[in-house]
Amino acid sequence: MRNRVLADHSNVSRLSPAIRARLVSEEEVVQQVLFGHPFEASEKFLQEVLWRSYWKGWLELRPQVWSTYRQRVRHLRREAPEPVRRRAAEVAAGRSGVAVMDRFARELLETGYLHNHARMWWASFWIHVEGLPWELGADHFQRHLLDFDPASNTLSWRWVAGLQTPGKTYLVRRSNVEKYAPPELLSDSSGIERLDDDRVRAVSVEEHADTRPVPLGELPASPPDSASTTALWVHDEDGSVEQSLLAKLANPIPLSVMLPAADEADEPGAVVAEWRRQAHADAWGRVTTHFDPKRWENCAGDGEDSLAQTLVGLAGEHGFRRLVCAELAVGPLADQRDEIRRALADVGVEWTEVRRPWDAALWPLARKGFFDFWDRVGRRLRKTGEGTSVLEVLR
Ligand SMILES: Cc1cc2nc3c(=O)[nH]c(=O)nc-3n(C[C@H](O)[C@H](O)[C@H](O)COP(=O)(O)OP(=O)(O)OC[C@H]3O[C@@H](n4cnc5c(N)ncnc54)[C@H](O)[C@@H]3O)c2cc1C
Repeated sequence: MRNRVLADHSNVSRLSPAIRARLVSEEEVVQQVLFGHPFEASEKFLQEVLWRSYWKGWLELRPQVWSTYRQRVRHLRREAPEPVRRRAAEVAAGRSGVAVMDRFARELLETGYLHNHARMWWASFWIHVEGLPWELGADHFQRHLLDFDPASNTLSWRWVAGLQTPGKTYLVRRSNVEKYAPPELLSDSSGIERLDDDRVRAVSVEEHADTRPVPLGELPASPPDSASTTALWVHDEDGSVEQSLLAKLANPIPLSVMLPAADEADEPGAVVAEWRRQAHADAWGRVTTHFDPKRWENCAGDGEDSLAQTLVGLAGEHGFRRLVCAELAVGPLADQRDEIRRALADVGVEWTEVRRPWDAALWPLARKGFFDFWDRVGRRLRKTGEGTSVLEVLR
């Protein structure tokens, strides 16, 4: 029933914001599911959870796909013709004139969530019916989804546009919407004729990115032994470090640094900002309980200093010589990695990112399509029995 888009979303888990922020990790979800259910009965759900690991691995192996998308967004914000920018703003605000699509647009703005099928329809509507640049639609999702994930979002939009899987474009069709959306979502049928099956045609979308894989960067899977004073940076990419190998750090100074986006146009919507604030507070509460530190720093940031400057300032204040954190996966935070590393090195602070064993086991397998990936991963997960951890079978 997952594909049915119900108004109350009772056919889906709605776990994605929590999994994305790693308030609960993929590993925990998969482990718990396999403790409680036979593999055969849970395979479809496990596949869904593993889509995230697959997309993340795919993008880690091709970080240039992310940077090209972000360059295109900046370019289009400045250079797209005025009518295109105006129409994009109308459609995003839920004023396209196609009532069912406008309903989804408003749901996204008001709740930060859309069902997977609704995301597919809406993205396809944006690209193939409205003829708008996919990058601007992906950027709109980026600012308004609670579960925004650089990999899942960018690569799903590319897939709808026909770039991700050669020869495959996802087209929204009236018959499909009417089959999978309940009558109450379709009670206002204005504009629906624009989705008539024989009317919707794929637009041809230009590829700007180089999609060839590059070697995955090497990172340690456990924190370094260090005699020097160490700080642990709690950031939004991993909201449960106390349940990772970073939990073994000896007396670190926890640092919580959240800064507004560097560019005002990248600021998330109010619903997302509030959700992130609460998620961060939750993660921070667990970290400080776990380490029970003598000193800690909770720094919200006022936007005047960059992330790198803020971390350097904290190093001066607290005298740490090493900064450790969970890996910054490809995305907005990792975009600041080089600047942070250089700034810290200038003041003699060593920076170490630590990769979760789950990511180290799965990302390198994302070289081809999802079903090749699932073939290897599913075969191993099937062997998880009582008392076996999923990590043991995956490694
Ligand atoms: C255009 C488009 C953009 C998307 N953008 C994002 C995004 O920014 N972030 C995001 O997490 N998902 C994204 N998705 C994937 C998917 O729509 C959501 O993960 C899913 O709808 C979340 O709802 P749920 O938790 O109720 O999912 P369920 O159906 O209950 O699935 C269980 C879990 O599996 C995972 N999952 C399912 N499908 C995917 C997928 N395709 N990729 C990654 N994880 C998946 C999620 O963690 C989810 O919580 C996008 C899909 C499309 C078509």
